[in-house]
Amino acid sequence: MPKTNSTATRHIAILGGTFDPVHWGHLKPVLALADQFDWQRIHLLPTCAPPHRAQPQVLDTHRLGMLDAAATLDSRFHVDDWELRQGLPSRTLPTLKHFHQECPDACLYFVIGMDSLLNLPEWLHWERLFDYANFVVMPRPGYQLEQCRPELTELLQQRQVSADEFRGGVGKIYLAECEPVDSSATELREQLVNLTECPAMLPEPVWDYIRTHNLYAMSNNNDAALNN
Ligand code: ATP
Repeated sequence: MPKTNSTATRHIAILGGTFDPVHWGHLKPVLALADQFDWQRIHLLPTCAPPHRAQPQVLDTHRLGMLDAAATLDSRFHVDDWELRQGLPSRTLPTLKHFHQECPDACLYFVIGMDSLLNLPEWLHWERLFDYANFVVMPRPGYQLEQCRPELTELLQQRQVSADEFRGGVGKIYLAECEPVDSSATELREQLVNLTECPAMLPEPVWDYIRTHNLYAMSNNNDAALNN
C-alpha cells in the first residue's frame, strides 16, 4: 500500500470477508456508504481462514479473481491480499494496526454486516479495535439489534453516533440506514451448483468469472482441500 504525503485527510474503508463468492450484499451497501461519506478508497480484504474451521470452497486465487472482477464496477474498489499474504488466520486487530501504520493520516472505516456486529464480543481484543478505526454496520435481513448481548448495548451507548457526527475521528460506530440487501454467500454457493444465468445477488463480472473458471459446480466441491 503506497504511503501518502498529502496533507488532506483520506477516508479509507475496509471490508473484510470470506468472499466465497463476493456478492451484492457486500458491494451495494458499501458503495452507498462511500457516496454518503466520501470515501476515496474501499479495500476489499479476503480473509485467511483458520485451519480448523471450514475452508472457502474455492481456491484463494479464485476469491481474489472474483474480487478483481467486482472491482471493475467502481474505481474506488481496491482488492487487497494483505491478510492472505500473512499466511495466518485473519484477526482484525493486526489488520487495523497495519492500515494505521501504512496510512497514519487517513481516517479508517471498518465495515461489517449486522450479523458480524452481533458476534463482535467474540472477536479477539474486540474492545481495542476502536483505537484504530470507526465502525460502520450494514443492515442485513434477518439480523436485528434487539438480538444483541449486554456488552454490545453498552458499547453502542458509548460509541454510536448519527450520520452527521460520523465522518472523521476514530472509535465511533454508525448503524447505516442504507437499503438492506438479502444475499448470502452460503445461499449462493448452493444455487450456483445448477444455475445457467446470473442470479440477482451476483454482479455480472463476478458471474462471468465464475462461469469462465467453472466454480461452485458440483464436481468442484473438493477444491477447498487444495486450498492450502
Ligand atoms: P457466508 O454466507 O459464507 O457466511 P457472507 O455472505 O456472510 O458469507 P462474508 O464474506 O462472510 O459473506 O461477509 C463479509 C462481511 O460482509 C461480513 O461483515 C458480513 O456481515 C457482511 N455481509 C455479508 N453479506 C451481507 C449482506 N447481505 N448484508 C450486509 N452485510 C453483509
